[in-house]
Amino acid sequence: MTNPKSYPYEAPQSQSLFDRASVVTPGGVNSPVRAFRAVGGTPRFMVSGNGPYLTDADGREYVDLVCSWGPMLLGHAHPAVIEAVQQAVSRGTSFGTPGQGEVELAEEIVARIAPVEQVRLVSSGTEATMSAIRLARGFTGRAKIVKFAGCYHGHVDALLAAAGSGVATFGLPDTPGVTGAQAGDTIVLPYNDLNAVREAFAAHPGQIACVITEASPGNMGVVPPLPGFNKGLAELCKADGALFISDEVMTGFRVSKAGWYGLEAAHEGWAPDLLTFGKVMGGGFPAAAFGGRADVMGHLAPAGPVYQAGTLSGNPIATAAGLAQLRHCTDEAYATVDRVSAEISGLVTAALTKEGVTHRLQTAGNMFSVFFTEAPVTNYDEARTQEGFRFNAFFHSLLSQGVYLPPSAFESWFVSAAHDERAIEWIAAALPAAAQAAAQATDLPKGESK
Ligand code: PLP
Repeated sequence: MTNPKSYPYEAPQSQSLFDRASVVTPGGVNSPVRAFRAVGGTPRFMVSGNGPYLTDADGREYVDLVCSWGPMLLGHAHPAVIEAVQQAVSRGTSFGTPGQGEVELAEEIVARIAPVEQVRLVSSGTEATMSAIRLARGFTGRAKIVKFAGCYHGHVDALLAAAGSGVATFGLPDTPGVTGAQAGDTIVLPYNDLNAVREAFAAHPGQIACVITEASPGNMGVVPPLPGFNKGLAELCKADGALFISDEVMTGFRVSKAGWYGLEAAHEGWAPDLLTFGKVMGGGFPAAAFGGRADVMGHLAPAGPVYQAGTLSGNPIATAAGLAQLRHCTDEAYATVDRVSAEISGLVTAALTKEGVTHRLQTAGNMFSVFFTEAPVTNYDEARTQEGFRFNAFFHSLLSQGVYLPPSAFESWFVSAAHDERAIEWIAAALPAAAQAAAQATDLPKGESK
């Protein structure tokens, strides 16, 4: 099958909206990676989504390989999610009291992930990691935290040091506005380096409150943990009395019913002390969570002294959407996402190989991304050695053919259970030209005109 339409490069409606947005919003966007700054060109303003497809303000359809940066595991506008939202919204939008939906969503999370005995709902992944860190500090009475370069945990002050995602995309060393005091207790270590963690514990005995890591990083591109890395972290934490926080905002409920925990720790017989969640569990709405050992969670207000709160936490629309989505995230849905991911990633690597483009396709469960580099990527420094200009050429060729990739080489690609044969054939038809563009790229193209 050929592409249903061939797209001109111009996007006049998106351009006009972007021009207006740039007057009233810094950089024209409400989250930096949306702005296309790394790849150049005009960000597409989307007006609707259906299954694996998005439609932009110019009426063009795209196969979506971003899936709202992870949440849309069942595809856009899944009928069960829409129905649940419509029913919930007809009863009112926020009560500021406890509600049944929160209980059911918490029960669903606790039922799926064995080490989560109690869970607190929040509204974003950032809030989840920020609160988990405060709790770890409150529980242990210690100040220092360990994070890994290239891991992104949201825009928490203490966690922005050497972060992935947009911070990596724009090559920001750190961000102004975070004071030395806020980041001073953050120890940043190279990812996948257990010795570095051992040395940090030896240098600061009894002072480290927690080690936080992405369960399997997707924010410097997909860089899975080496065998034994996460288990080693858990053991080092335990030996020192620190807590191990596994950030599953991206992987949670996406790579399996029980997230990365279900793929790895559950089989290896160990468990994180705290886990953080977001994205899929909100069904496209702002719902996120952190949870774990009941004795640790019991330190949270009002049960304990560590304060944490939110006006819209456990919002009835968000919990209804999240619950409806999770209830349809069945074994069958995960099997479909896994199959679709294997099929699409196989097509990508075959097309690039055919054109002789040096690349590494890296996978973690059903998440994957392409590095334009020869050697395997195991940490952030290695991720940064890739030929970014090839990604940009590849990205723009696909975009011009209606395939929507993350606009950065430092992000995971996401597929859904709704990616059907048409979507896969569409991608397959677009790949040869994109691989050629990557092969021929010689410089960092800025803007969309070639
Ligand atoms: N943690 C991880 C692993 C993430 O990927 C993200 C966002 O991409 C966050 C935390 C922050 O989540 P949010 O953007 O909902 O604040």
